[in-house]
Amino acid sequence: MKCIINGRIVLPDSIVTGMALVFDETIKAIIPQCEIKAEEYDVIDAKGNLVAPGLVDIHIHGYLGEDASDGNSEGLKKMAAGIAKNGVTSWCPTTMTMAKEVISKAFDTAREVKAEKECYGAKILGINCEGPFINPSKKGAQPEEFILPPEGEFIVDNADILKLFTVAPEMDGALDCIKKVYEDGRVLASMGHTGASFDEANAGIEAGVRHTTHLFNAMTALQHRNPGVVGAALSDERVSCELIADTFHVNPGLYKLVAKAKGDKLCLITDCMRAGGMEDGDYTLGGQHVIKTGIQCLLEDGTIAGSVLKLNEAVRNLRDYTDLSLAEVFACASLNPAKAIGEDDKVGSLEVGKCADIIICDDDINVLTTIIDGAVFKS
Ligand SMILES: [Zn+2]
Repeated sequence: MKCIINGRIVLPDSIVTGMALVFDETIKAIIPQCEIKAEEYDVIDAKGNLVAPGLVDIHIHGYLGEDASDGNSEGLKKMAAGIAKNGVTSWCPTTMTMAKEVISKAFDTAREVKAEKECYGAKILGINCEGPFINPSKKGAQPEEFILPPEGEFIVDNADILKLFTVAPEMDGALDCIKKVYEDGRVLASMGHTGASFDEANAGIEAGVRHTTHLFNAMTALQHRNPGVVGAALSDERVSCELIADTFHVNPGLYKLVAKAKGDKLCLITDCMRAGGMEDGDYTLGGQHVIKTGIQCLLEDGTIAGSVLKLNEAVRNLRDYTDLSLAEVFACASLNPAKAIGEDDKVGSLEVGKCADIIICDDDINVLTTIIDGAVFKS
């Protein structure tokens, strides 16, 4: 049995000191540190740092030159190891709008890697399928030639490996698709890359949409007489919202407003692409040329093409631009996304019975140690 002492433990709604976190593969207890007999445990000294839940990234395409859409198992493992260093202990590799056989191959690769027992880094919870069921007018950096009409069968047929998918609710067949997936109950429908009006977005929610793909980006904006997808997503309390908090995709002055409106339904994501963790230069996304300069990734025509954000940086940014408590900020990158995809019985918070997915980080949210299923991750 292991235990972490001398930490400030980040619980779902508070931070406690003077307590020890006891775990093997799962969290066994959180007890007063004075009750710990050091000789009975493998003791990890947090040295006054934060002991927080492992982060959960439900929307990330690539990292370290790799991309989930490549369908390469070594690439997925390299990404998993890389993001573990940023504090991510479980994730949803995210596919793009690509040819269906390419998407299916990426699903198969994720199935194969997810089934492995050996720890390769952050655990794959399942795939986030972003496209092909989107609106060409809001395609962002998704390649238009592979966009298809929404089709519920494709999602349900792959529900063993899918956790969420993006759909534009205004497209022909979208509402039937959403209903079919909602009734099946295994995959979360997320509205995104959508030109829906407020009414069309609300019709999508009535059909079963419960999540929003990167709020504000690639969707109709909030205007006072045309509240758009943003208005519908912010107004309906059943709907969770992703936010790319890199300070570039969305003006950070809005973080406070979004946090107030969505509460525990706000999910920080990275939407990171293969240039994440790499030097500035030329990369690809969905076969298109992307130029990375600092925190910006753009197609040649200036369209934003994913991010190079790390999830611990998103936590830091949300803390810096809101008045949320630190526990609430961490929940936005752990418990809230875990809840959105129905994995919160296993991951997302430091609670007895859950996986011992734990990070130790300093006050600037630099990750010092990542623990996955109770084992310190060393890449
Ligand atoms: Zn994305």
